[in-house]
Amino acid sequence: MAKKYERPIIIKVQTGMMNKFGSSPYYSRKIRTEIDGVAISDLVDKFGSPLFVFSEKSLRQKYRAYYNSFSTRYPNITFGWSYKTNYLPAICSVLHQEGAIAEVVSEMEYDKARGLGIPGNKIIYNGPFKNLRALEKAVKEKAMINIDHFDEIYDLEKIADKLNKKIKVGMRVNMDTGIYPQWSRFGLNLDSGQAMDAVKRMVSKGKLILNGLHCHIGTYILDTNAYAVEIEKMIKFGYEIQDKFEMKIEYYDIGGGFPSKIKLKGTYQEPDVTNPSIDEYAESITTALFRNLKGGDLPQVYIETGRGIIDEAGYLITSIVTSKRLPDGRKAYVADAGINLLYTAFWYKYNIEIDRQVDGTNEPSIVYGPLCMNIDIIEEGRLLPPMEKGTRLILSPVGAYNVTQWMQFIEYRPNIVLIGENRELDIIREAEDLSDITRREKLPGRLKLKE
Ligand SMILES: *Cc1c(COP(=O)(O)O)cnc(C)c1O
Repeated sequence: MAKKYERPIIIKVQTGMMNKFGSSPYYSRKIRTEIDGVAISDLVDKFGSPLFVFSEKSLRQKYRAYYNSFSTRYPNITFGWSYKTNYLPAICSVLHQEGAIAEVVSEMEYDKARGLGIPGNKIIYNGPFKNLRALEKAVKEKAMINIDHFDEIYDLEKIADKLNKKIKVGMRVNMDTGIYPQWSRFGLNLDSGQAMDAVKRMVSKGKLILNGLHCHIGTYILDTNAYAVEIEKMIKFGYEIQDKFEMKIEYYDIGGGFPSKIKLKGTYQEPDVTNPSIDEYAESITTALFRNLKGGDLPQVYIETGRGIIDEAGYLITSIVTSKRLPDGRKAYVADAGINLLYTAFWYKYNIEIDRQVDGTNEPSIVYGPLCMNIDIIEEGRLLPPMEKGTRLILSPVGAYNVTQWMQFIEYRPNIVLIGENRELDIIREAEDLSDITRREKLPGRLKLKE
């Protein structure tokens, strides 16, 4: 094969012995030839590239690690799987098998959970928009509805009238926990008295019975103490309501937000250094529960962690399509997957592993996706070795938020494969073809091209 001409460039190579920082970054590279014992080459041969791969083993292990960490410290713990983080039926079903109930934030997700056989009373229904029809369905099916705003109170009161019954509801609150910017757009504000006003409204009408409090302070929260503040404020509020209005708060839903082991753009240290362990979150949270609950009270506690459980179970295999030299001297690659499949690329710095040994020094490189779109960049500035067309990159972790927030833009979405605990290989979402894209499109007869 003829070699392509490349303009020579000069880059500074820092050679030398291994030192306390490890070997020179100009030669170090991360190689991955398999996922859970299945060869990358086999996966691509069978299912194509790009390809999302999920590890059932790692998903179950992570769930159990979280569950055990909390349930050994507090007796009434239930996890609600945050559907929006990843609502592939196979992923949800693994977590439901492990004992998680469903946490949904829209009618679509609610229907999805019901479709997977989850009964209404095992669905936590959150979110700022619940239409009247969905609310009525959720009430009839006895879902745990966490009210987000005043209009939802009025809607639920109408439904209570229509069905001629009182409805048990929870309420989402927001508050200052030391995490900024504060997520104040969801739920009713506790610090300002707004949340108490909402309770008074419910009590005065007598149609809704408040039995739960919910809060979700944000995502990728690195401060374990923020949860302790959240819990202290919620429980104090809960007792205040109980004392004033003779309502019993039966559950506290403390939301999600635990980080995964992914480096955020703009951070210097590795997640292993910056991120508290699962046990540290569990310790902070359960200590705050025991410190603030009155003797003998052990209400149900729900945890809605999404990212923390699923992110590291997901990989994306993508292939190098070509490389070129940019005028500024940087090496540029085009890969067959980009931000169309990797919504989290905007703030994540993925682990990048390659499927083979390659020779040559590493260079600052930029990896573009396949889109005709200037912002389609997976990685800029990392030191990568010279890679030929066909080299596979394995990006991780990508299990959270990508396969729900991906976008339909000029490309088909690829296969998603689940590797079972005994290395079973199952497609859990089939690659799209043109019929998926055009199925709902309509062409008025008068616009059809004449023969
Ligand atoms: C998104 C969301 C979660 C999950 O958040 P993570 O940061 O992925 O753990 C939990 N609860 C609610 C209400 C959410 O909106």
